[in-house]
Amino acid sequence: MNKNNKMLYDFWEVLNLAEDYISTGLIKNHSDLDFSSDSLEKISAEISVCKKCRLAQTRNNTVPGTGNHNPLVIIIGEGPGAQEDKTGQAFVGRAGQYLDKWMEAIGLNRQEYIFLANIVKCRPPGNRDPLEDEIALCLPYLERQVALLKPKLILTVGRISSQVLTHSNLGIGKLRGKSYEYQGIELIPTYHPSAVLRNPDDYRKPVWEDLKRVKNSLNEKKS
Ligand code: URA
Ligand code: SF4
Repeated sequence: MNKNNKMLYDFWEVLNLAEDYISTGLIKNHSDLDFSSDSLEKISAEISVCKKCRLAQTRNNTVPGTGNHNPLVIIIGEGPGAQEDKTGQAFVGRAGQYLDKWMEAIGLNRQEYIFLANIVKCRPPGNRDPLEDEIALCLPYLERQVALLKPKLILTVGRISSQVLTHSNLGIGKLRGKSYEYQGIELIPTYHPSAVLRNPDDYRKPVWEDLKRVKNSLNEKKS
């Protein structure tokens, strides 16, 4: 083989190798990182077998998120409770039923307008707060869900989800009362429905103010 032919030969070898990479998966694996091929079903399937944190050892069911797949609002809580762990559905216990009443009060029923999810997708034992490492390991799922669902507004309920998504250490009493942004989407924090059930005298009024903020903001976005 003369020098020119050798070069041509090498060139073909490299091309063939590249073709092999593409058809046998090296490139295919990259599609795991490609948001354009992501889907809610794919995320839920990954969550269902996830063992990234210790909560996998004590859960009965994973709770990826529940509701409309073209929602006006995503509501984000902290983690599944006992009922959610039993059923695999988010916010189906007492807190969730109360939350439904809040949203119906501003004209938003769950089936038509809302998707509900949590910061961690597996129940923390005894409903303890999720730990920092559990939150960090689980958060990418929620990030992908929000990116796919593209709601007009995000309502965080309770201290944990409000702090995590606004990147703040402030208590919920200090955080609430204004709007923030997450992934370029307006985010409004309020108290957790469980806290309001425990302490209605203190929390009902501010929650109502926050819900009016949600309603007004959605009206503005519509017009
Ligand atoms: N509390 C939460 O934060 N999330 C649920 O799904 C249920 C109760
Ligand atoms: Fe995985 Fe999240 Fe469940 Fe931990 S809480 S095991 S990160 S799905």
